Amino acid sequence: MDSSEPAGTFSRLNRDQIGALSGYGVRRRTRAGELLVQEGRRQRDLFVVLSGAVAMVEGPGTAEERLVGVHGPGAFLDEVGLLTGQPSFVSAVVREPGEVLAVSVAALLDFVARDPRLGDAILRAFLCRREQLLGSVAGIRLIGSRFSPDTRRLREFAARNRIPHSWTDLEEDAGAERLLRRMSVGPDQTPVVVWRDGQVLHNPTNAELAGLIGPGAIDELPGSMVDVVIAGAGPAGLAAAVYGASEGLATVVLDAVGAGGQAGTASRIENYLGFPAGITGAELADRAVVQAEKFGAVIAAPAAVAGLSRGTGTTRCASTAAAARCAPARWWSPPAPATGGSTCRASPSSRAPASITRRRSWRRGSARSGRSWWSVAATRPARRSCTWSSTRGRCGW
Ligand SMILES: Cc1cc2nc3c(=O)[nH]c(=O)nc-3n(C[C@H](O)[C@H](O)[C@H](O)COP(=O)(O)OP(=O)(O)OC[C@H]3O[C@@H](n4cnc5c(N)ncnc54)[C@H](O)[C@@H]3O)c2cc1C
Repeated sequence: MDSSEPAGTFSRLNRDQIGALSGYGVRRRTRAGELLVQEGRRQRDLFVVLSGAVAMVEGPGTAEERLVGVHGPGAFLDEVGLLTGQPSFVSAVVREPGEVLAVSVAALLDFVARDPRLGDAILRAFLCRREQLLGSVAGIRLIGSRFSPDTRRLREFAARNRIPHSWTDLEEDAGAERLLRRMSVGPDQTPVVVWRDGQVLHNPTNAELAGLIGPGAIDELPGSMVDVVIAGAGPAGLAAAVYGASEGLATVVLDAVGAGGQAGTASRIENYLGFPAGITGAELADRAVVQAEKFGAVIAAPAAVAGLSRGTGTTRCASTAAAARCAPARWWSPPAPATGGSTCRASPSSRAPASITRRRSWRRGSARSGRSWWSVAATRPARRSCTWSSTRGRCGW
């Protein structure tokens, strides 16, 4: 059985596309039963099946083994977690021997920068696959009572970060207690998170869960000095990250719960510009994350910003419970409103992402015909934020 189809979850690459991608990867033979990707593995290549067949399997070799699909020649493996650094939620096992093309993530990003149409096709398939995983029993298993605040916290964290998971309610599932006993877990130690390879976390913090399965934990962030720190990875924060990082600023986004904000949980957003058929909140969030990371922004969650303070010299620090991230920034008050100036929408700090950046001078004749986008104007003491589209170096608010 080959699950491939022309577009979507099981889309294939044609001969020309494989030819173009070949220069970015390494061909190698496969043998039946070979494990190409193991569940739980973060670092992995993109595999394109050149010949033979590869099965995507949940829990291979366990009593709960489940076949997700089979990829034949032309198909590529994996899902959006490959790009966001999340562990694989399914294993890829060679069913029929043949040949694969292995492409590293760095080489893949390099390739799609040159061939955005193919990049978009791959991304669309990756997002469809994540959507499928979210609706399946793949991923972590959470066992806890619906009345437990910690169960609710962990479920929210998993949902907000679009982590594939299933939940067993201790109040309803008769087999749950038996399962806990088998794992030597008492009811007072719940909720527990069970991961495929037998790892059991007892009432983990959100940070511990992120360390196990999340896209980016705060302790994985690079050095402390950056150009821009953005607190909040909702649509506004992610947009600021895309604009900041695409302008070459070293950008870090810290979110208390997970990237996507409220929008990440919306089943369908019909009024987002450019998506006439609507888009799910999860897809919008994942696309924004991939876009921001493509430009080099680093996104960490959970990382609640507890305060903004002065550092040394011109630096400003955003502190979280875990660490402080400093930006070589200056507080900057935008010029007074001027007639004919460009528009600037400012929102109160409670809703807008609080960002710190150094002031950038207006670049004449930029690639965007003299229009520069950047964020953020943070003024004291009101701490307002805006994304500023300027054609004349003035901010009209
Ligand atoms: C179910 C649902 C459906 C919706 N559908 C639509 C729709 O169809 N159309 C529409 O226009 N709008 C819709 N909305 C509203 C839309 O999602 C919001 O307007 C939008 O998400 C606001 O974006 P934002 O980035 O400003 O804030 P938010 O999305 O609220 O993001 C703020 C982020 O900041 C983080 N944060 C907060 N405090 C801190 C801190 N101290 N440190 C670090 N991070 C912090 C939060 O965790 C959050 O991720 C919907 C909302 C929901 C909940």
